[in-house]
Amino acid sequence: MVIRFDNIPDTVKCTNNFNPDLVDWSSLSEEDIASYFTYTDVLLSNVYLPKETIICKNSNCTDIKHKIDVSVMYNHIVTALFEASKPLCKPRKKGKARPGWNTYVAEFYAEACEATKSWAMAGKPRQGPIFEYKKHTNAKYKYAIRYINKNEQTLRADSMAKKLLCKNSKAFWKEVKFVNNCKPSLPCTIDGVSGANAIAALWQQHYNKLFNCVPTEFYKVDNVEGVSTIKTHEVYQVIQNLSVNKSTGMDSISAEHVKLASPRLAPLLHFALLPSWSMAIFQTL
Ligand SMILES: [Zn+2]
Repeated sequence: MVIRFDNIPDTVKCTNNFNPDLVDWSSLSEEDIASYFTYTDVLLSNVYLPKETIICKNSNCTDIKHKIDVSVMYNHIVTALFEASKPLCKPRKKGKARPGWNTYVAEFYAEACEATKSWAMAGKPRQGPIFEYKKHTNAKYKYAIRYINKNEQTLRADSMAKKLLCKNSKAFWKEVKFVNNCKPSLPCTIDGVSGANAIAALWQQHYNKLFNCVPTEFYKVDNVEGVSTIKTHEVYQVIQNLSVNKSTGMDSISAEHVKLASPRLAPLLHFALLPSWSMAIFQTL
């Protein structure tokens, strides 16, 4: 069977504000993955298990308390996965690459940093050789910055020409893309409608019509037979078979969050999914 995590019942809502997109799973080291695994193991072991709900054998249960229990448990699981992945978040690189930085500035920048560090360690003196050296290296750094700012156009052209000459096409096109990175302006009028909000509403209507031309029906699963035959090892297997490198679903859990977590996750999801099957409203695919 196929479990789609974006189809987890809408009684279950994730309230986490953490942006999991910042985790670049493909760049993680083995230690990162091992620490995520260990961390999820610890956090998942603290997920509260509502015993009464878990042992409820009624596959068509409508008990509101059981519904809330499942929702709370699922949120605990999601939060545990997010918390464990927080240390893996790498801040996105800010600022833009400046032509000539490596050639004209990097050396002075490193020198100025070192000098400032030594000056701070010496108790930030206001005079003397350490202070003078810091002043001197900072001035050289600022001068280098001014130089590349003044000659940005020329340096950019030189940098691109150099990449082209060296047949470094990947870096060349990256720079071309960077230089041309200006967003196209939005049209003022579409189909006689003008104004950003009105145009947005027009597109909403358009796609609403397009995507709903074949009617889909929500149905309430109110007579579930045989679902209780799903076993924990099947949930585990499904987790193992998830494709990685995909965008997240509505609950913001990526396949990697689930796949790289401790195997404790499978029985917990099993507990969370089983009762929800009968309580939730699923959308037909
Ligand atoms: Zn129940």
